[in-house]
Amino acid sequence: MPPRPVPPRPIIVTADKVTTDKEPFDIDEAFRRLRLAVADLPKAAMFALRDRGYGSPFEQLVGSLISARTRDETTIVVCERLFAVARTPQDMAVLSEAELVRLLNGATFPEPKARDILALSRRIVVEHGGEVPDTPDRLMAFRGVGPKIAALTLAVGFGIPAVAVDVHVHRITNRWGYVAAPTPERTMVALMEALPHPYWVEINERLVPFGKWICTGERPRCSTCVLLSMCRQVGVTTHR
Ligand code: SF4
Repeated sequence: MPPRPVPPRPIIVTADKVTTDKEPFDIDEAFRRLRLAVADLPKAAMFALRDRGYGSPFEQLVGSLISARTRDETTIVVCERLFAVARTPQDMAVLSEAELVRLLNGATFPEPKARDILALSRRIVVEHGGEVPDTPDRLMAFRGVGPKIAALTLAVGFGIPAVAVDVHVHRITNRWGYVAAPTPERTMVALMEALPHPYWVEINERLVPFGKWICTGERPRCSTCVLLSMCRQVGVTTHR
């Protein structure tokens, strides 16, 4: 009897390449591997601040604003210096702009950030009874607060499920082939549809260090990556 024909291997067609021998992308397994992969790496600034006791909604809101275009290591130092002086909207609202600029020394754009922090602190006191609002729309009504800052404030500060998408989360989830979105804003919408709720907060915590050290913008470390067997490597042309 002639041998039975061997069925062809599955071929997965992704946005820009054809890949064989990949496992289905299993998000639960991906997170199990991610936790181990980043366990010894420095945490993203807002999660490091949370772990140091600066996890209130106001501290997360102000810290996220300070962290924009500022290195994580610097953000942590600046926030600890600032929060030693003022860690509530009431205490922040009575600082002078000059004093706040001095406290923000080291962060990028200290003058505009000082103005934004003062303005939102005073509005929280006057318009919100001293409590940080807990909806994206009301948070984004503050000058300087966009979707990522609002999501971090909700997720880390309030514990309300929200997906904070920065450049790392955007780049990596698109490389996985888990979403296909051209901008961080569209990636956030796609993840809110695809990603199970238990991972909404955690995805930023894991992918920021993963993106800084492993799935880097240029030449990601694919050959030793724990996700290589399931990642579609969409858009990756050279890697280590
Ligand atoms: S295999 Fe490469 S592209 Fe995929 S997650 Fe790992 S480092 Fe990133």
